[in-house]
Amino acid sequence: MNTLVINCGSSSLKYAVFDNNESVVHEGRRERLSSDEGQSHQQALAEMFTELDRFNIHAIGHRVVHGGDAFRAPTQVDDTVITAIEQWSPAAPMHNPFALVAIKASEQQFPGKPNVAVFDTAFHARMPRRASTYAIDFDTAKKHSIRRFGFHGISHEYAAGVAAGFLQRPLDSLRLVTLHLGNGASACAVEYGRSAETSMGNTPLEGLVMGTRSGDVDAGVILQLLQTGEHDAASVNELLNKHSGLKGLSGIGNDLRDIEQAAANSDDRAQLAINVFAHRARKYVGAYAAAMGGIDAIVFTGGIGENSASMRERILQRLEFLGVQLDIDLNRRTQIAKEDEYAVISEPHSRVDVIVVKTNEERMIARETSRVVNSDRVTAVPRIPIAVSARHCHLTKETFEALFGEGAEPTVDKPLVQPGQFACKERVNLIGPRHRIDGVRVLGPLRGVNQVEVSRTDEFRLGVDAPVRDSGNVANSAPITLEGPKGTVTLKEGLICARRHIHMHPNDAEQFGVKDKDEVSVSVLGGERSLIFGDVLVRVKDSYVLEMHIDTDEANAAELGGGASGGLSVTDIDEEGGVKQMGEGACQT
Ligand code: ADP
Repeated sequence: MNTLVINCGSSSLKYAVFDNNESVVHEGRRERLSSDEGQSHQQALAEMFTELDRFNIHAIGHRVVHGGDAFRAPTQVDDTVITAIEQWSPAAPMHNPFALVAIKASEQQFPGKPNVAVFDTAFHARMPRRASTYAIDFDTAKKHSIRRFGFHGISHEYAAGVAAGFLQRPLDSLRLVTLHLGNGASACAVEYGRSAETSMGNTPLEGLVMGTRSGDVDAGVILQLLQTGEHDAASVNELLNKHSGLKGLSGIGNDLRDIEQAAANSDDRAQLAINVFAHRARKYVGAYAAAMGGIDAIVFTGGIGENSASMRERILQRLEFLGVQLDIDLNRRTQIAKEDEYAVISEPHSRVDVIVVKTNEERMIARETSRVVNSDRVTAVPRIPIAVSARHCHLTKETFEALFGEGAEPTVDKPLVQPGQFACKERVNLIGPRHRIDGVRVLGPLRGVNQVEVSRTDEFRLGVDAPVRDSGNVANSAPITLEGPKGTVTLKEGLICARRHIHMHPNDAEQFGVKDKDEVSVSVLGGERSLIFGDVLVRVKDSYVLEMHIDTDEANAAELGGGASGGLSVTDIDEEGGVKQMGEGACQT
């Protein structure tokens, strides 16, 4: 099987054909493409297709820079995936639109052949929330998807895998710092096989010093520049992305070779550029060692990481306290030849190994593409949002009036996703035999039966034992006393722990291949800890909007806090008892 790998950027098109053994049988590149609505890309792709005529292409893997929080694994392309890549295009305007041009052209050229999107962000998608969250106003961040995504994931994952192979230890037993130092540069803390922290953030501008990008700067500097009147958003963007980093500091250009040459000839700014670059990288290594509680290896990759022995030596200075013993001669002699995958440059007795890995994003994309195509997992399916229901109650007219006064009507506070449903301004207090819980939200409209929904934790607090029930089924459930401003009502029954369920429109049900009252399993892939929920009830109605409801205990178990989002897949237990995957999407809470 030949896999075509396409890496389509704003000004270049790189491609390679891999055979079954991951060997390159053909490769090529086109440079200096103009970003004229993709026309010159279309042209370059057409030329590439002609060139590839003699190869039997079975699958096409595409590098996609930004998958946002929708993807945490390579995914076979379908309409949902295309929409998601489009949705994240404004966040990666120099990359995502061009990847889409390549995907669409490939679909036309190779009808029926699978296209797989391999995302730069996916490896970082399970970063802990403490690492992906910026400490800015919570609601503003949520509204504008301001969080840390991380990039270069394909390269970090590849380099980590090669390092683990050398160390002959499973990746999930290692703590690594991978440094991808090329024109773009980023560091990653790979903790037991996962990205636990990375230096690029919401955009590829944060973190290390790069060829022309600044990396970390005080956000106050940007405000200051805007306030001078000499800059607007576009010129600050240009300054930080194109005229900073090694180029901006040295005044020479973004190529480290030229800067090293000038520094050797006592050019002060060239020396400064090198020092700032190395200092920043060293700082990140130390920080990541602290974040992971230690490290087993440091891995260098990317044009600078692979080729500049002096930069590697500078970065590793002062890291002896971590157990890093560089073999200085070996480091200086090390040149990784094109076909070599790695070289070790630490002393044999160094507690922390230092490894130089030749990055090969294309090979990683080919590998992932084959994996996706050869697995029978259906990965691209509708997104299912998750709503976390805090404790609440549905009341009858009679109970409502007893609590809030004769003739009282519920007041709408805000509408809920399910049509016609709303949260009321009114709140009641729940009084159990043990404790009370105050301020519990009433949901409208009023119903024919009283139903109070609490979590298991709430039950312990109240001192009652409520059954897990489908909504509406309250016969022989637990008793509870409700207290309102105008009175108290004791219900003989009505207190339940709501069974987790998914609201679906008949069209959704058809897509998932389920029907009303089916029981499915749902795996929440979004947060730091993925989780499969069993016994999820499917509820299908014309008036329903696709949404899964879980309670706060369940959300906590999956670490889905307010504002969390992630992938979700609906699964069904097949006849052999295995889990059959039926869908995947993102959840928002
Ligand atoms: P990109 O991020 O664009 O893929 P690369 O990973 O190819 O970039 O890295 C390119 C950079 O690597 C060059 O700009 C240059 O600074 C650096 N580089 C390549 N070879 C050497 C070398 N022998 N010595 C120092 N730096 C080098």
